[in-house]
Amino acid sequence: MERFKHMVDGHCDTLTAILEQNRDIGRYAPEGQLDLPRMAWGGINVQFFAAFISPRFRDLALKKCLNYIDVFYAVMEKNSGVIAPARNADDILRINTAGKIAALLAVEGGEALAGDLGVLRILYRLGVRALTLTWNGRNELGDGVGEGNRAGGLSLLGCSVVEEMNRLGMLVDVSHLGEKGFWDVAEVSRQPFAATHANCRALCRHPRNLTDGQIEHLARTGGVLGLSFVPGFVHSSEAGIEQFIRHVDHIASRFGVGCIGLGSDFDGMDEYTPGLRDVTCFPYLAEELLARGYSDNTVSDIMGGNWMRLLKKVLR
Ligand SMILES: [Zn+2]
Repeated sequence: MERFKHMVDGHCDTLTAILEQNRDIGRYAPEGQLDLPRMAWGGINVQFFAAFISPRFRDLALKKCLNYIDVFYAVMEKNSGVIAPARNADDILRINTAGKIAALLAVEGGEALAGDLGVLRILYRLGVRALTLTWNGRNELGDGVGEGNRAGGLSLLGCSVVEEMNRLGMLVDVSHLGEKGFWDVAEVSRQPFAATHANCRALCRHPRNLTDGQIEHLARTGGVLGLSFVPGFVHSSEAGIEQFIRHVDHIASRFGVGCIGLGSDFDGMDEYTPGLRDVTCFPYLAEELLARGYSDNTVSDIMGGNWMRLLKKVLR
């Protein structure tokens, strides 16, 4: 879609399918939700790729993370005509100007740090530019939403990780983090931060969704909420594009449009939201937003402009 300069997807789990099922995203791969031909069709030109550190890897988390990074660069090399790794906003502009997709490497699950700030710095050198501090459970950095009412905030190490990420120029991702941890990040971080894939709790009472207070904080401080297409986060029973857009409306009417981004979670879900089924859906979503009266500029910000503003600010 030519009318938007940047179309950004803040989260996908496609690296897991590549690593574990040997999926080739260089060709049309309908068994999944995202591949390079369909990305070109859908117009996404900036994609976060997450190295998902499943709790089952606990003792081998760092090795698994390195396996993910290895596979990420293998995909980049094999498909270098259409996609390239980006380490900052200038890289993204250069790669997009060359007509290619810019790929941002993220790690989902602070277990990968093995409790060591030095590992964080090495991962940064390897090109990792975003870290989801926890998955649903507890790790050395803090507690995920899966800990329920027992979830505490960030550990001292978790606070140090946030500070070091600020210093290095990495994006802190609070998706999956418990609410106390969110407010600890809000207190410690000197940079705006993101929830790369989550929705509004006020509309869908899933623990993975953010409260209005959390969204207000992101909006006020220049952060971004990447709205996810996971049906269970969109609506408790009948997720559709209509229900998805209600999340946009909710944020826009209360907190403004500046914090709204997209974070599909493609290849990280077992069920689909009709109309938001795979990476070709983005132009339709943009059309639906325009049809509901959102201006060209606002839709452009939602489709990627807000993400770009945050990445320019945070990444160096
Ligand atoms: Zn996730």
